[in-house]
Amino acid sequence: MAPQVPSIQPFSQPEVLSPASHKPSRRPISKADMNDGFTSSEVEAAFDSALHKWQPRMTYDEVVIGSLVPGPGCVVVTGRVVNSYDQTMNSKMPQEARGCLRVIVRDDTGTFAVKLWYAKVDYQLRLGHLVSIWTPHISSGESSSLALQDAALVTSIFPERDNSCYFMVQENSDEGVLCKTPQGYRDGEKLDGLITLKNYVDGGPEVAEGKVLVCVKSIGGRKKFTTEKGNQTQKVDVNIFDDTADATLTLWGRTAASASSWKPSYTILLITNPSFKGDVRPTLSLSQSTRVDVDPCMTDAYWLRGQAQRLTKREHVNQPFPEGLFDVEEAAESEVRMLFTLADIDEFARAAPAEHFIGYLSLTAIELNIYSLYQRNMLLCTECCGVPIFANAITTQCKQCEKDLTLRINPRLVGLLVDETGAITSGKLIWSDEAWEQLLGRNAQELAAATGNVQLLKYLENRLLFLKLAVMFGWSEEVGKIVVLRITIV
Ligand SMILES: [Zn+2]
Repeated sequence: MAPQVPSIQPFSQPEVLSPASHKPSRRPISKADMNDGFTSSEVEAAFDSALHKWQPRMTYDEVVIGSLVPGPGCVVVTGRVVNSYDQTMNSKMPQEARGCLRVIVRDDTGTFAVKLWYAKVDYQLRLGHLVSIWTPHISSGESSSLALQDAALVTSIFPERDNSCYFMVQENSDEGVLCKTPQGYRDGEKLDGLITLKNYVDGGPEVAEGKVLVCVKSIGGRKKFTTEKGNQTQKVDVNIFDDTADATLTLWGRTAASASSWKPSYTILLITNPSFKGDVRPTLSLSQSTRVDVDPCMTDAYWLRGQAQRLTKREHVNQPFPEGLFDVEEAAESEVRMLFTLADIDEFARAAPAEHFIGYLSLTAIELNIYSLYQRNMLLCTECCGVPIFANAITTQCKQCEKDLTLRINPRLVGLLVDETGAITSGKLIWSDEAWEQLLGRNAQELAAATGNVQLLKYLENRLLFLKLAVMFGWSEEVGKIVVLRITIV
């Protein structure tokens, strides 16, 4: 997040301005110390990051990274974070700095590095964050540093102590397309160096500036470690895939936090120059010369996301009920009731794919799996972090992200439904909570509570088998499955 500076006072702490003062005061700053003419309400308002605005004292030229030149000159640059890591300390460390982050920032024209010194501010940077940097000076990179191969220019700033520079993380920066076009990408053309994940795993690490475009499949839990030197660090494993292969992307240290905002089967990563290890499972990680573009604007990325979404639709163990899509009340009151057969739906859906409609089916359940699912502890299910989760209980915790989850009745509980024209398997249906209750005579919670009662489960299964069911269903291309809205046992 952007540094939160309560008033102008911290920019001009006496011990910094006075070169004679070598011993920084360890005394905590009290309200009285902020005696800079601001009222307490003004100071409080400034604490609110939304209200806080840094006021530049000079004019800064807005420039793109590709046109930066080394030397003095006030510029403001906006770009996306494509890598960041803690820099090892050296003797050039400014007084009072507690550490330094190296942030690699990219826009559509180029890449440069920001040495961001910090004292009290904890910059919570994520990959893909849109950031703006105000600086009075740009330097040529230290050529010895591998990290700067692709970031030949660097600026060194310490916003907490130097009022001529500033570092800002843009609000809601995941949205929008600003600075999301990969460098060198032209619409309709293949991006230079882009290879499939399979080709990369099979020998791509040899390719200089090799790039892979992958989709996030699932995100593992964050694990905390203490390093040999006694420092706290963390890591997270992200499963990634494209249409040719699967792999793991391990994020260490500060970058691990980035994964928390990524969405399985949605977030696309363009990874340039990753580190690679292939002993057990192909594993990518970030070195200092790696760059990660999150959700880049390019045709291949849209295509891969589309593929991923189609795949999840097929694979999701319990696709969520599309709330608000079908007007069940209105359909129930309507005098016109369209009776379909399973063959009709197939035909109708093919002929008018963009339509969505509500109709009725007359079906018989010829396979029920209540007892067998109970035995396998799979009566209810859901999915989190891209991982299917089953239980004979209505709530559980995701082992990856530790979120509390509510499980819904497993659609595989009804194995096969038929009418005179065809059959439909449970995987092709999405059930509303209401329909489950009408079918089973109990809601998910009551079903979960009945799991100790084997007799009841067996009875339920026997009672429902071969019963004729009047099914009110909805169809929509958007959902791509038959949605069971209501059920009447005939
Ligand atoms: Zn989760």
